[in-house]
Amino acid sequence: MGKKGYIVVSLDFELLWGVHDHETKESFTKQIDGARAVIPQLLELFKEYGIHATWGIVGMLMASNREELLECQPTELPTYSDPRLSSYNYITEVGENEQEDRFHYASSLVNLIATYNNQEIGSHTFSHFCCKADGQTVAQFSADLDCAQRMMEKTTGRKARSLIFPRNQFTEEYATAASKKGFQCVRGNPKSYAYNNGKKKLARVIRFLDTYLNVCGMKCSSLEDCKREGHVIIPASRFFRKYDTRFPFLEKAKVACIKRQMSYAARKGKIFHLWWHPHNVSINSDKCLEQLRDLFEYYRELNRQYGFESRTMQEMADAVCLS
Ligand SMILES: [Zn+2]
Repeated sequence: MGKKGYIVVSLDFELLWGVHDHETKESFTKQIDGARAVIPQLLELFKEYGIHATWGIVGMLMASNREELLECQPTELPTYSDPRLSSYNYITEVGENEQEDRFHYASSLVNLIATYNNQEIGSHTFSHFCCKADGQTVAQFSADLDCAQRMMEKTTGRKARSLIFPRNQFTEEYATAASKKGFQCVRGNPKSYAYNNGKKKLARVIRFLDTYLNVCGMKCSSLEDCKREGHVIIPASRFFRKYDTRFPFLEKAKVACIKRQMSYAARKGKIFHLWWHPHNVSINSDKCLEQLRDLFEYYRELNRQYGFESRTMQEMADAVCLS
């Protein structure tokens, strides 16, 4: 048998902190409540199929109350040109604690994740920091990560080792800065144009087509591709898009695309990295969970046939460093 392939699963957990610039409590209630309800179900599903996952969690979500949230503020706040991006501009809206404000606090869910085996608690920065937004600096990013690690240690007793960049605004420079704050491993983007040009219209159209047709290819990485000086970058291979009620007939094609990538990684000894937000599977969650179950059944089959294995980002980084 040749080289072994891997599936890496990562989730961006942010609730309202990740969407303040375009959603409100009112417009996003269904998604937030759905995300909170689906997380325990995802954990049980991961357990049943032996899926190791990394949860990139916004540090602000981890605060147990307002006092703790205010206490843990960076020395330098982000100076975005668009003030709507700064989470610090919404602090006045935040309630006292999780019982009062389920949109901005989630320590009960973070604690629940921590009770499960094979689930890594990683970071999604402290304030959902946007690394490519105009106006911010790498020093502000580093100050944010100091807070993220402080909150992480308070909540879990140890520093995080994996980082997921908000909005996939990844750069090699910021990955290096993160490695200086203890993040040995980050999620990168696939090499294709569509995945490195965020909101551009053409990129969005290509990404949409890629969901159903794999137009950007398999997007799996070799272990060597991930190695950098002092840290590891594990590029994403696939975003698990929400169940689209506008195109139910395409949902089968979406799952088939993911299976094709999984099979490719298993056969070629590569890394397939699947990611999503809990809120992406919060509407029509039964259908989403059914699709994930189907994918994890397929993972089992590939595991038996090719020795395909599931890894958290951190576990994958350890394997990359040893390779
Ligand atoms: Zn995010």
